[in-house]
This record gives sequence, C-alpha cells and structure tokens, in this order.
Amino acid sequence: MDLKKEMVLKKRVREEKANFRNFPMVPRVIFGNGCFDQLGEILIPRRKSIDAPMIFLLDDVFKGSKLATRIPLLSNDKILFISAEQEPKTTQVDSLVTEIRDMFSEQPSGIIGIGGGTLLDLAKAVAIMLTNPGSAAHYQGWDLVHKPAIYHVGVPTISGTGAEVSRTTVLLGPDKKLGINSDFTTFDQVLLDPALTIGVPKDQWFYTGMDCYIHCVESLNGTFLNTFSQSYGEKAMELCKEVFMGNLPEELAREKLMMASWHGGMSIAYSQVGVAHAMSYGLSYVLGIKHGLGNCLVFQQLEEFYPDGVQRFFRMRDKHDIRLPEGICHQMKEEELESMITVALSLEPLWENALGSDWRQRISPDVLADIYGRI
Ligand code: NAD
Ligand code: ZN
Repeated sequence: MDLKKEMVLKKRVREEKANFRNFPMVPRVIFGNGCFDQLGEILIPRRKSIDAPMIFLLDDVFKGSKLATRIPLLSNDKILFISAEQEPKTTQVDSLVTEIRDMFSEQPSGIIGIGGGTLLDLAKAVAIMLTNPGSAAHYQGWDLVHKPAIYHVGVPTISGTGAEVSRTTVLLGPDKKLGINSDFTTFDQVLLDPALTIGVPKDQWFYTGMDCYIHCVESLNGTFLNTFSQSYGEKAMELCKEVFMGNLPEELAREKLMMASWHGGMSIAYSQVGVAHAMSYGLSYVLGIKHGLGNCLVFQQLEEFYPDGVQRFFRMRDKHDIRLPEGICHQMKEEELESMITVALSLEPLWENALGSDWRQRISPDVLADIYGRI
C-alpha cells in the first residue's frame, strides 16, 4: 500500500474510533426478591481493613424501618440517613465528603447508596469525590473525572430512573443542573431486590415509573437511535406497557418495573433523552420540581413532538387515577421563565437527539414559553 493510501486509511480509522463511544457497564448485578440479605457477603471481599468502613447512604424514609436493621454493619461501618426531599446538590456532596473524611482516618472501603435516584446519585458522586480533589461542581460535564472512584454499590428502592445503570450522577450546581458523566461514575455492583420497592406511595411510583417510560419514548423516537439503544428501549417499553397498562399481580409488576428501569437506562446510554427531559431540567432548576413529576408535567404538553407516546401516557395516567398538579408556571416571574428557558435550551444534545441537527429551526424561546405557560 502506498503511503498516501495508508495515511487515508489511518485517518479513517482514527475518525471512526472517535465516533464510537466505549461505555462502561455495571460489572456485577444480583437480582431477586430478598437478595438484599446477600449484601453482607458481597461486601466482605471489598473490605480493605478493619479501619476502612463501608458507608451506607440510606434514604431517611427508612429511618426506624426493618430495612435499616438488615444493613450488614461490621466494625466501624456507618449509616448516614439522607433526605430525598430535594434533588442532590454539589454542595451537599462536598459536605458529605468532608463529613466522611473528618470521621475516619482511613479512606472508606466503599459507599453503598440505598434509595431512589436521589440516593443512588449521591452515592456515585461521593464515591468519586473521595478520590478527586476540589468541589463536585468542577466535575459537572463530560469526562472531567481523572481518578477512579472508590468502590460503590447501588441498591434501588424505587424503579424508573435508570440511575442504577447509568454513567452519570445528576447534580444541582451553583450555575447548572448537570451530571458528572464519566467512566468512573458507573456502579461497581448493583443489587436489584424488587421487594425493597414495597411501600412506595402510588403517585411517586407513577412519576418515577414514567421517567422510565419517557426515557423509552425519547430514545426510540430520537435521531441518535441505533440498534443497541433500540433493543434495550423496546424491551423497556414492552415492560412499561405490561406494568402500567396491564393487570399484573403486584409482585410481578414490581419485578418488571425494576427491569424496565434497567433497560430504559441502558437504552439512553448510547442515545440521549429528548424534549421532556430538557424542559424538565428547567423546571427543576428554577422551581425545584423533582425529576419524575417534572417529566410528567412537561410530557403531557408534548403531543406535537411525541403524539403516540403522549396519548399512551394519558391512558396510563387515567388507568391509575393520577392527578397531576396544575398551574405550576402560572404565577412565575418573567426572570424565572427566562432562566427556565435558558437552562432547557442549553441542553443541546437533547434537542439534537429529539429533532435533528437543525433543531433550532423548530425551537425558540417563544415555543418553550408557550409550553411552560400551559404547565
Ligand atoms: P427519589 O430518590 O427522589 O425518591 C422519591 C421519593 O420516594 C422520596 O420521597 C423517597 O423518600 C421515596 N422513596 C424511595 N423509595 C421508597 C420506598 N421503598 N418506600 C417509600 N418511599 C420511598 O426518586 P427518583 O424518582 O427515583 O429519583 C429522582 C432523582 O434521580 C433526581 O434527582 C434525578 O435527577 C435523578 N436521576 C438520575 C439519573 C441518572 O442516570 N443518574 C436518571 C434519572 C433521574
Ligand atoms: Zn429521566
């Protein structure tokens, strides 16, 4: 082969390499009703020394519960109860890291997050920040983390976000709501025990479950879709339909929603979310509205973008007799609306996935103001 041809070939290989992303996946997962009781034996080989504790971040909804007593504590392990009332903040991550550093002379052996997306994301972020200098806010973005996190485990107690499989931890920072997206974010171990989701309030079950459904709609209708994402997205969609439109026994519905969340999360790994997520980030940033509910509030107004998905959403909402709050944006100040729109529009990959590279032709601040105005 002459040199010129070889150079062209090498260039093409380089370009192709740059085009295909190489994603980490959760290397270990255990699934089954009651498998939480195996957590202790799973952690044993990960314990570095008697002084290097396992730190359990537990949603404070479980304070005084049976679950709290089942946590496999050894030597100086510690449970930190954390409220999921508000979505995780970079400042909250920083102070948890300081608290843990002050409490122990040695680096912990691991961080175990037990709860919904809020606790899972906190566990991921704390595990990263225990080995990386500075504030969590410095790492919001893509591939800014350079040192591996400490061992971290995710134990979901409500299903839908896909946070258990994703390579991101979504944080509210000083000037943005954005994930720490990195190869070190993904959990080292996930424990899927559907029985832990018993007791989730019905509205919250629906909101977080709809997060998964909306991941499927946005991924399957996105321009970034490839066969990898499609295969996971279709499975997650099928499971969501069974759970939210069928009449499954409760135990089976819990199992299927947990797997829907997993597949939905896998589906967006290689694609992106879309319009509902972009606009829901705005709602969350300005009004503090939580992810699941925010997605539902936005998604019901998106018939022009996702006609079939929104129609099915209405049928699911009615079947489960869910009433979404109204008039959320009616009393909003002009500056608040502007900042909501700025946050939403800044999420360019989401718009590009939803509408293609010429998305700016269809989307303007006025279009968003109109949609927000109807929420
Ligand atoms: P959540 O963690 O905020 O919890 C919602 C509510 O359910 C809380 O009141 C919590 O205490 C309660 N709850 C949880 N488990 C319960 C149980 N078994 N019994 C009774 N109550 C229970 O909810 P979520 O919707 O799972 O998570 C939302 C968060 O996830 C947001 O911060 C969002 O940004 C994040 N998220 C992250 C990703 C990711 O890939 N990292 C993806 C989507 C969403
Ligand atoms: Zn989501």
